[in-house]
Amino acid sequence: MSKQNYGRVFNFSSGPANLPESVLEQVRDEMMNYRGSGVSIMEISHRAKAFDEVMANAVALTKKILGLGDDYSVLFLHGGASLQFAMAPMNLCEPGKPVDVIHTGTWTTTAIKELKKDFEHRIAASGEKDGFRRLPQIDAQTLNPNASYVHLCSNNTIEGSQWKHFPDTGRVPLVCDMSSDIMSRKLDFSKFGLIFAGAQKNLGPSGVCLVVIRKDLAERASDKLPTMLQYRTHIAGDSRYNTPPAFGIYVCGLVLEWIVKQGGLEAVEKKNREKAQVVYDAIDASQLFKCPVEKSHRSDANIVFRIKPDSPESEKLEEAFLKEAKASGLVELKGHRSVGGLRASIYNAHPLEGCQALAQFMREFERKNS
Ligand code: PMP
Repeated sequence: MSKQNYGRVFNFSSGPANLPESVLEQVRDEMMNYRGSGVSIMEISHRAKAFDEVMANAVALTKKILGLGDDYSVLFLHGGASLQFAMAPMNLCEPGKPVDVIHTGTWTTTAIKELKKDFEHRIAASGEKDGFRRLPQIDAQTLNPNASYVHLCSNNTIEGSQWKHFPDTGRVPLVCDMSSDIMSRKLDFSKFGLIFAGAQKNLGPSGVCLVVIRKDLAERASDKLPTMLQYRTHIAGDSRYNTPPAFGIYVCGLVLEWIVKQGGLEAVEKKNREKAQVVYDAIDASQLFKCPVEKSHRSDANIVFRIKPDSPESEKLEEAFLKEAKASGLVELKGHRSVGGLRASIYNAHPLEGCQALAQFMREFERKNS
């Protein structure tokens, strides 16, 4: 944490979320005069040499952190993860080869909504009948070896579940929405054909979407697709076919440098595990708080919990919890409006101290309310 506090609170927002304080300070320090250029990074051309360096640095660091080689392209695009729900099928669907979707919650529902518009697809596995409280089992028979690709969401931001192991999709490309756990743990990223993630949880400010794509897959697209919607365009244009979200890319670069300084993904994962355990231990030791998610599928990024879910007092207690937590400097703990309850989002930049403070607050709240 920064030496100075600035009156900041422990922020459990699901996104846009915490940025490392050292990064915010650096952004502040470089705001008026970017590294001796006499102007702000927001005031230079995206074709300027200084911005070439910003872009090259962000791309190189992404590849380095993810351990990927030249067969992958790293793009920083507009349109958020939501645009990728459309761009992925537009570019990667092949006729007669339906997309296999692994359906695990709200964000795969949104992906399916886009697929329904115009693309052959199939729900290969679904956690819906279990209320998305557990992830579906995937075995050798689950997936179609002739699918255009498999779509999966690595971390379900709203339901609080996270894949710990990924299915082997063989030669079928795995397309993964990693919006809420990108760069939070060490994975074999070469297993994925396409990864996308809105930046606003682990990487930077909103307005930038990181896309990592195996280059050969970008060649599947028809060149009749609108130019801006072809991955190929952005690969050829180095994410600068048009004016990119330049300020956001600059901040992403600083966050990527911060990840490297932390010790890379292994170190980040260890810290994230420790943080999540502090909160899950508090929930599991309690009679009041309950986590609805199957233990082995619980997310280390978004901890979803309820207070006495089967009791008529539940909502009143949750309201009191949120109010008192806020007064104690613990903010944004409300669950997503579609599912209610409570949620602590503790992405990379959320400090361990915030999780300890939350666990302590939960114990005190239970003592007062039982
Ligand atoms: N996928 C997941 C898993 C998300 O958590 C979110 C945003 N919360 C999105 C997609 C949508 O991202 P965006 O707002 O960047 O379009």
